[in-house]
Amino acid sequence: MFRASRSHESINVAADLQVGYSYNMDKSIPYKVVHRKVKHPRLEFKTKELTVIVPHGYDPAIILQKYDKWISRKHRLIQECLKDAANKEMSDRTLGDLKDLVGVYLADVCRDLDVTVNKILFRKMRTKWASCSSHNNLTFNTLMARLPDDLVAYIVLHEAAHMLERNHKKPFWNIITRYANDYKAHEKELHTYWYLIHDTI
Ligand SMILES: [Zn+2]
Repeated sequence: MFRASRSHESINVAADLQVGYSYNMDKSIPYKVVHRKVKHPRLEFKTKELTVIVPHGYDPAIILQKYDKWISRKHRLIQECLKDAANKEMSDRTLGDLKDLVGVYLADVCRDLDVTVNKILFRKMRTKWASCSSHNNLTFNTLMARLPDDLVAYIVLHEAAHMLERNHKKPFWNIITRYANDYKAHEKELHTYWYLIHDTI
């Protein structure tokens, strides 16, 4: 799966929290606390805002303290992405054009990787750019219409590679590196576009 990625990453933690970090969280990081009927507290960066979801009666400071370093790291990455976002342009290609483009890239990469797609689906998704099911159905986010060609190509490559390697371990990245040496830059750029696009919808 190509989660839009670490951009909306969330951490689920067990209820029996052990506080291991000292509380030195950057107080300038804004966050929103949501009390909800959940079993375990969790942190989300689905958009650029940190949301702390906690069960009723749970002190959010506990989870904020525990994941202090993770929060700072995410926050820094998001700030970097937002800075980059100022220089990015969004494509105005139509959904039809996106489908054609994905089709062209996919045919190429599937031939190279010797894999066969079962179904290609397009829909608007709130949490990821694309995904690959165990039956090799590929789903692409229609919001990809706003991305530049090279990032569309990268997402197609990423999902096609998942037909060979389901997770994000080393063999997966070895395949990706064969075609996109600079995949880390692409991944980062995708974060940037994610925030940019979600600011406008
Ligand atoms: Zn993936």
